[in-house]
Parts: sequence; structure tokens; C-alpha cells
Amino acid sequence: MSLEEKLPGWKEIPIGGIPFKPSTEYKTGDWKVFKPVINYEKCTKCLFCHIYCPDGAIKIKEDGYPEPDYDFCKGCGICAEECPVKAIEMVKD
Ligand code: SF4
Ligand code: SF4
Repeated sequence: MSLEEKLPGWKEIPIGGIPFKPSTEYKTGDWKVFKPVINYEKCTKCLFCHIYCPDGAIKIKEDGYPEPDYDFCKGCGICAEECPVKAIEMVKD
């Protein structure tokens, strides 16, 4: 396999892929105005929210449920938008 095949350029990154590493050194969570709150009675553990969060701010708990890390969540609302069962509500921080 050629180097080009092993290391595709940014145009080959799949839709929804993350081209950069989210911040881990700086807590960026205080940027947000709204925060996601998960209704665990509705959540099906599909983890779409974990996959789509551009900041990697939704962790997976030991029981398989997602959990937002408010230290890094910027409140963009993508997780709430992508949740297929509307288990995530954006509330004022
Ligand atoms: S996208 Fe919604 S249903 Fe799926 S794991 Fe996240 S909160 Fe639960
Ligand atoms: S609101 Fe945005 S940054 Fe925060 S957990 Fe959801 S997708 Fe990630």
C-alpha cells in the first residue's frame, strides 16, 4: 500500500469525521450558553451523540450510557440534533 493510500488527505475524511484533536489541555466548557441534558429514560445507548460530538465531549459510562463532559462541551447542540429519539435537551447553562 502506498503512503498516499495509508495517509489520505482531508478530502477523504468521511462526512462527520474529525480532522483535529479536541482540546484536552484547556477546559473549553465555559464557552457554552446551553448545555445538553440526557433523558436516560429515552436513551437507547445508540451512541450517535458520542460519535457526532465534534469535541469528543460525550463520554461512555461503564453501563454503556453516554455522559456529557461539561468541562469540554461547547454547547453546539449537534448531539441533541442527531439523537434519533430526542433524548437530549439543550438547556440554559
Ligand atoms: S444519541 Fe440519544 S439515544 Fe443515542 S446514546 Fe445519545 S442520548 Fe442516547
Ligand atoms: S452540545 Fe456540542 S460540544 Fe456539547 S456534547 Fe453536544 S455535540 Fe458535544
